[in-house]
Amino acid sequence: MATESLVPATERKEATERRRTQAFFPQLSIEEELNPWLAQEARFDFAAKKLNLDDGIWKLLRHPTRELIVHIPVMMDDGHLEVFTGYRVQHSISRGPSKGGVRYAPDVSLDEVRALASWMTWKCAVVNIPFGGAKGGIICDPHKMSQGELERMTRRYTAELMEFIGPEKDVPAPDMGTNEQTMAWMMDTYSMHMRQTVTSVVTGKPVELGGSRGRLEATGRGISIVCDHALKHLGMAVSGCRVIVQGFGNVGSNAAKLLFEKGYSIIGIIDLDGGLANPRGIDIHALLRHRAEAGTIVGFGFAGAEQVDPAELFARECEILIPAATENVITSRNAADLKCRILCEGANGPTTIVADQILAEKQVFILPDILANAGGVTASYFEWVQDRMGYFWNEAEVNRRLDLIMSEAFDAVISYAKAHNVNNRIAAYMLAVDRVAYTTKQRGMYA
Ligand code: NAD
Repeated sequence: MATESLVPATERKEATERRRTQAFFPQLSIEEELNPWLAQEARFDFAAKKLNLDDGIWKLLRHPTRELIVHIPVMMDDGHLEVFTGYRVQHSISRGPSKGGVRYAPDVSLDEVRALASWMTWKCAVVNIPFGGAKGGIICDPHKMSQGELERMTRRYTAELMEFIGPEKDVPAPDMGTNEQTMAWMMDTYSMHMRQTVTSVVTGKPVELGGSRGRLEATGRGISIVCDHALKHLGMAVSGCRVIVQGFGNVGSNAAKLLFEKGYSIIGIIDLDGGLANPRGIDIHALLRHRAEAGTIVGFGFAGAEQVDPAELFARECEILIPAATENVITSRNAADLKCRILCEGANGPTTIVADQILAEKQVFILPDILANAGGVTASYFEWVQDRMGYFWNEAEVNRRLDLIMSEAFDAVISYAKAHNVNNRIAAYMLAVDRVAYTTKQRGMYA
């Protein structure tokens, strides 16, 4: 029988949380916990220490190579001039041109773009493709802007980046708030300045403009591939494997669809406008049809699916939880409540470093973001390759190559974790930092 504690439960919980926080970072406030750059730095430092990384290389890889801030004038539809602030951060070009998306959102910050740029370096290294990492963003609310305003802003932003981007320099792609159309405008603006069509300057373009077949689904497909491997690795079966997905956008909806088609039971979907649950499994094809008509997952009642509280659903028992919405959704405040066996990170940075510690204690098997959602950048790499060849693969070929790369990356992370006796997150960082440090040393220092 458990011994009763004299300390009230709330105080015990607070003390445990304090201890956990201090184990990683002394006096980490909630603001610091939620700062993605500090999270990236802490994980990088941890991996670098474990690798006994040379001091100079450590200092070099800790900072982005280049950070650009631009102020973008845009003539708005009502005739007034607005000025938006944009960023492009290039973290590393050691393994090849830097690669990373462009985010349009009201809360974009330099720290966030920095963190995302570094994650791209590590992600490209985990899947072993010849790219470094970069990221861009503009502080704006794309949902409140017209197509004309978005086009003018995108074109001027691209013009400001002319010297910094290019097929051999830095290759942007879509991220939150941007899409195929944004990439078509970026490609066209760059091409106008260069006086020739340069399709390989961006990826994530429409297929008719040099985009790759399979790119749209690729991140979700990559997630489904690593989930298959995780089940095999843990001796679990697909049949009866319950999955909850947060975020029903590009990544979440494609992951849910592909897992559903493979026989996984998707018992919960959470989006901004609500949570949907069915213990017997949600028919994802029917949900996609409903969302296409209604524009929301709300109101879907097919085969016993019910509207539920999103926070409660997030913490329900399941075999796989897939956060595929945004950053910092698993924190010191809710990590202890999660009841999943596997956490597969579709989003970038969904778990804070404090939450990491809590999940490690709970022995949750983590498929970290820099592995789990790397299917997108891998397909972007295929797009860049096809653009440069001027020869395009069919979808089966893209999917076959994606499967190969994701499977190799999964095996590499698991082997690293075993060899170094660390968890999957640290193993993925160690593998990535090791690979980037190696090429940095090989190239030698121009210092
Ligand atoms: P998206 O905009 O298509 O979809 C995001 C979805 O999440 C939307 O449906 C939105 O309503 C929902 N959402 C947002 N905040 C939420 C919250 N707090 N709770 C529940 N739902 C919420 O974006 P996406 O392209 O699917 O990207 C999602 C995440 O995956 C981001 O972190 C992105 O950086 C990352 N990612 C995307 C790709 C890609 O290929 N698109 C690749 C790698 C990583």
